Amino acid sequence: MLINEYTDAHRLFLQASLSERFFTEATAIEIYLQDQETFTEFMTTLNAKLNSIDLEFRKSHNEEDGSAVWALVNTNGDEIAKMATEYTPIEISFFRRLIELIVTADDESFSVSSITALKEVVKLKTSISKSNGEILLQRFVDDKWLSRSRGGRYSLSLRSILELQYYLKKEFEDYLSECILCYDIVTKGQRCEMAQCKARFHHHCARRYFDSKNNKKCPNCEIGWDSSNVIGDCDSIDSGSRPKRSNNQTTKKNTRSQKLEVDYDQMDQDDDDDQMEQNDE
Ligand SMILES: [Zn+2]
Ligand SMILES: [Zn+2]
Repeated sequence: MLINEYTDAHRLFLQASLSERFFTEATAIEIYLQDQETFTEFMTTLNAKLNSIDLEFRKSHNEEDGSAVWALVNTNGDEIAKMATEYTPIEISFFRRLIELIVTADDESFSVSSITALKEVVKLKTSISKSNGEILLQRFVDDKWLSRSRGGRYSLSLRSILELQYYLKKEFEDYLSECILCYDIVTKGQRCEMAQCKARFHHHCARRYFDSKNNKKCPNCEIGWDSSNVIGDCDSIDSGSRPKRSNNQTTKKNTRSQKLEVDYDQMDQDDDDDQMEQNDE
């Protein structure tokens, strides 16, 4: 790919985004001063420059509502270790343990209660007291490393999923699923009702995928799709009764779900174009 020249426009964008690190695509497009490059070219040029210092702007989607977001993320090494400038080693080991509890939570709830989280503080046998544990949990939320639901459960934040994705995929390969449509990690979404089937969707991806279909069938095993089969902390969706999954054997094609032949990048591009047009008005 042809990389354009790095200019003051890129430098200004980088400076404006350093304090936030993390912003919606609408904000990114606002900061981007439209010059000769399209927004996509602009970000490619910026990333070409940043890659030499192990940073890159990465695009993803908010799991809650599907909106596009951009984050400045580290691309190399142990991402959690890089939190060392903000947290002590003990605080980081607490954070690692929380991530583990969240990702390996029963029944793909991908969340942990505050009581369980605080019990872990005690188990660490460190100088962190329970009340300091509460303060620390709040800091993780304030720094956008964790999300807290209305019901007081902690889950991975968008920032964690984006910045720690290599770590998460490497450490918890057996626990995390990718969305069958967009291939991003799913910690809030829907799953196939067949226990053996790996098909998972983000809610917005399921809507997008099934919108054009007459009957809702799992794209992997072809059993009927029930969108009330949710994963993740259901707090914000409903009060959270999880339907039981069927254990019947299916005509499963693959242990890993098959990827759909949907050009998601192209769909994103359409979104970008929509936003650009709005921006032009
Ligand atoms: Zn998705
Ligand atoms: Zn299925």
